Amino acid sequence: MNKAELCTLLNSLNIHPSRKLGQNFLLDPNLLDAMVREADIHPGQRILEIGPGTGALTQRLLAAGGDVTAVELDHRLAAFIRKTYETPSTPFRLIQGDACKQDYDALMGPAPFRCIANLPYSCSSPFLIHIMEGANPPQDFHVLLQKEMADRLSAATGTKDYGVLTVRLAMRYRATIVRVIPPNVFFPPPEVHSAYVRLEPISDPASPNEYRLASRIAAEAFAQRRKKTFGLLKRIYSEHILHQAFTQIGLDEGLRAENLSPGQYRALATCLDHLAQH
Ligand code: SAM
Repeated sequence: MNKAELCTLLNSLNIHPSRKLGQNFLLDPNLLDAMVREADIHPGQRILEIGPGTGALTQRLLAAGGDVTAVELDHRLAAFIRKTYETPSTPFRLIQGDACKQDYDALMGPAPFRCIANLPYSCSSPFLIHIMEGANPPQDFHVLLQKEMADRLSAATGTKDYGVLTVRLAMRYRATIVRVIPPNVFFPPPEVHSAYVRLEPISDPASPNEYRLASRIAAEAFAQRRKKTFGLLKRIYSEHILHQAFTQIGLDEGLRAENLSPGQYRALATCLDHLAQH
């Protein structure tokens, strides 16, 4: 669909693209094809798409053989997508609602699924946090999001972009920026560059309990990233236990949030939990 066709369709649906809903529709067919190619979809794979919009990516996911579940908040787009793609012979279902509020364990069940989407900028971070907290998070992600956010997801320990989201994600996935995308391939163009990001599973993902504990510690540490993590964690654990844990893992008590690697957050969480229970 070119820009004129997209504008005609949006007008017919009475939609003026909303910045609040991150409604920046992808226009470039080559880029859409490349996104699907890079995701390497196998026929029958279960795919979760967030924000199908007018279906530019959806139609390609289906053409590649995907079994697609899409979540769209805008009821006018949801109705259009449902009418266009939800036929008895198409492996497609549309959920109208907020991607940050779905129960993905109930929606997707226990079988593996992938997440491939041009995420709305407005909710990419809460969506990723929400879905990673489920019992069965996606086996991998191929998502288009703000470049700034992609930098945070893929940040190295000790850099300014490294934060609690980086740590949470790194407990389950390895993030790679596949390509950086300029604003002019969208309508309307966003104010910033975007990036297509691949999140692949790591070989030793954190268990749900380890993930929960380490996320809590990282959140506490990054809440005041200029202060020493040891001191900040006294809000949760006694000084005695903290001292034992830092010594056992070989961590300097003068370290700040950005100096601890995701592996060290995991080790610290496990050790503190063990010490607190004994
Ligand atoms: N997939 C389309 C494309 O690539 O052209 C549209 C992508 S557009 C960046 C984001 C889409 O997400 C819009 O259709 C918007 O209505 C929808 N959206 C915004 N917030 C949402 C939310 N919280 N839950 C689900 N969908 C949302």
